[in-house]
Amino acid sequence: MAAEAKRLAANAAGDFFVDSTCIDCSTCRWVAPANFDETEGASRVYRQPATEAERHQARMAVIACPVGAIGTTTKHDLHAAEAAFPDQIAENVFHCGYHARSSYGAASYLIVRPEGNVLIDSPRFARPLIRRIEALGGVRTMFLTHCDDIADHQKFRDHFGLTRILHTADARGLAVEMPITGREPIRLAEDIALIPVPGHTRGSACLLYRDKFLFTGDHLSWRPGKERLGASRDVCWYDWDEQTASMAALADYRFEWILPGHGHRHRLAADAMAAEMKSLVQRMKRAA
Ligand code: SF4
Repeated sequence: MAAEAKRLAANAAGDFFVDSTCIDCSTCRWVAPANFDETEGASRVYRQPATEAERHQARMAVIACPVGAIGTTTKHDLHAAEAAFPDQIAENVFHCGYHARSSYGAASYLIVRPEGNVLIDSPRFARPLIRRIEALGGVRTMFLTHCDDIADHQKFRDHFGLTRILHTADARGLAVEMPITGREPIRLAEDIALIPVPGHTRGSACLLYRDKFLFTGDHLSWRPGKERLGASRDVCWYDWDEQTASMAALADYRFEWILPGHGHRHRLAADAMAAEMKSLVQRMKRAA
């Protein structure tokens, strides 16, 4: 739980605050952007919530925060914020919330579909979330985009009996039920393609759903300040040239949404997204 004694001085005066245990994962900044922003190496409350809708979003940030770094000076009922996750993004695609410290606060997502629900990366194994996922039909498959965002995967496996998918190049001794190999895309189902994108890690992979929603792990995210797609060389753990080549191959696909592990999700019309991808590949090549 956040501690008032550790309250960051950069917070706006008032009820909600971020304390010094913040790991700067950015989650609160996109869950409740009206109230949280970035300060030096952390988040802060730059403006106190002024409406009940803003207070609800701020409470959702409390629930999503992986380290419990968001607090309030008054007591709040968090049940509605707990019940708000998984939070619908569009159609049958949800943000799970309940980010895990062991994934450095990475986002995870749920696709609800008649053929079996799919989790993309692992949220915290939290009882309120599990009950909500059960109400949405449970989970049949957990797709792990890479080795860093696997969090509580074993608890989800034990609880739901789901099938975990992970590229063997990122297995690090983890024996999953469905290992994938190589660089060629894999058609998991009529509506789901798995696309290896080595670069950030050797075994990174994306999941493309309905040729519309691209779950990108740490391969690709939206940069809200620059209003463009981005990939980070600073956190490229394997090979930047490989990541650039993977991005160029990914640019051949059509999609509208990018849903990353870290950073902001974003939607563009498919043609605009394709143009953004081409532009990003050129920037990556120049940065080689
Ligand atoms: S969600 Fe928590 S850890 Fe992440 S940036 Fe916000 S306060 Fe910091």
